[in-house]
Amino acid sequence: MNTVLQPLDVTAIRRDFPLLSRVFHGRPVVYLDSAVSGQMPLQVIERMAKYEREEHTNVHRGVSTLSQEATDFYEAAREKVRRFIGAGSPREIVWTRGTTEAINLVAQTFGRMSVRKGDEILLSAMEHHANIVPWQMLAEEKGATLKVIPMTDEGELILDSLDELLTDRTKLLGVVHVSNVLGTVNPVKEIIAKAHARGVPVLVDGAQAVPHLTVDVRNLDADFYVFSGHKLSGPTGIGVLYGKLAHLEAMPPWHGGGSMIRSVTWEKTTYVAAPGKFEAGTPPIAAAIGLGAAIDYLATLGLDRIAAHEHDLLVYATERLNRIPGLRILGTAKEKASVISFVVEGIHPHDLGSLLDGEGVVVRAGHHCAQPVMARFCVPATTRASFAYFNTREEVDVLVSAVEKAIELFK
Ligand code: PMP
Repeated sequence: MNTVLQPLDVTAIRRDFPLLSRVFHGRPVVYLDSAVSGQMPLQVIERMAKYEREEHTNVHRGVSTLSQEATDFYEAAREKVRRFIGAGSPREIVWTRGTTEAINLVAQTFGRMSVRKGDEILLSAMEHHANIVPWQMLAEEKGATLKVIPMTDEGELILDSLDELLTDRTKLLGVVHVSNVLGTVNPVKEIIAKAHARGVPVLVDGAQAVPHLTVDVRNLDADFYVFSGHKLSGPTGIGVLYGKLAHLEAMPPWHGGGSMIRSVTWEKTTYVAAPGKFEAGTPPIAAAIGLGAAIDYLATLGLDRIAAHEHDLLVYATERLNRIPGLRILGTAKEKASVISFVVEGIHPHDLGSLLDGEGVVVRAGHHCAQPVMARFCVPATTRASFAYFNTREEVDVLVSAVEKAIELFK
C-alpha cells in the first residue's frame, strides 16, 4: 500500500526553535550543523525546566513522593528509548553520557572480557574517532589488532571483503550506521548477518542514524547500538547504550560507586542487575527526561515525514552544489542521509567555513573527528552542511549563494 505522507509544517516547527530567529553578522542564522548537535525544541527545554523547577531530587533513593515521582519520570524516559529503538526490555537500555562513553563502556567491559592477544577487532573505514580510539586502546592493552573494512571512492563499504576479514580471531565488528562525514547509510542488517554467521558480535554506532531513520535493534539483530541525546533534538550529557540482555548480564560492571551495588562490605561488593550495574552515581536526571521529551517531539512530527523532508533537502542541495564549478562532494553513496561534505578548489575548508559564517550560515569545517576518512579521500578537512527537519530549500539557496560569493572572493 502506498501511503501519501503529509509534508511537515516547517513554518510552525521553526517557531519551536527560538535560535532560528537569531541574526549573525546582520543575517538571519541558517543552521546547517545538526550533525554536530541538533537544536532542542522549546518542548524539550521546558520539560527539563519543569523538572528542575518543580520536581527536582535524586532518583532510586528515597521513599518520598518527590523521589518516587522523579524516579518514575526518569524510568519512563528509559521506556521511551526502548520503544524508540525497538528493544525488547528497558533492562537493555543503559544511560551513558553519550555515544563516546557508550563505546568506551563496551570496549572496557565486553571487550576486555573477550579480546585476547592475537585477536582481531574489525572496524569500517568510515568510523568516527569514538569508534576507533577505544578499540585501539583495548588492542594495545591486549596485544590485539585492528582490521578495517575498506570503502569505495563513492563512500560505500566493500562488503565482499568481509568474507576474508571476518576470521576465527575476530572478536567484535564495529560499524557506523550513518557516516557523519559522507552521509552513507550502511547496510548494517546485512553486515550483522554476515558477522553473526561467523559468530562475531556487532556494535553499531547510531549517533547519526537515529535522528533520520527508524531504527529497530531487534530487526537489525544488533548486539550493541549506541547514540547521543544531543543529536536527537535532546540535551547534551545523555546517551544510550543498547545491549542484548545476555551480553549485559555477562559483562562486568565498569564504574563503581553508589546505585550500582546490591551490598557492600569491606570484604566484598555485589552488584545489581543490568542496567543498574553500569550506572554508578547520580545520573543526569533532567537530561534523561529531556531525551524522553525529544523522542515524544519527534514522534509528533513522524520519523517518516522527517526522513522525507530531509531527503528532499539532500537531493535539492546536492543538485545545486554540484552545479558550482570547482566544488566536489565527498560521499556519493546511493543510500545517504542529509549530510553533505564538500571541498572547493583553491579554498581551505576553514576559510570557507568562516566566510559562510559571515553570511549567517553555520556549517562545520574540519576533519569531523574522522581523520582516517580525510586520509582516504586525500583531503585535510571538508566543509559539511547537515540538514534537519526545520531547514528549508530557501536556506539551501542561502548556502549555495554564500559558497558562490566565497569563490568570487578567492578568484
Ligand atoms: N559517532 C558519530 C558517527 C558521530 O557523528 C559522533 C558525534 N560527532 C560520535 C560518534 C560521538 O558522539 P558524542 O560526542 O556525542 O559522544
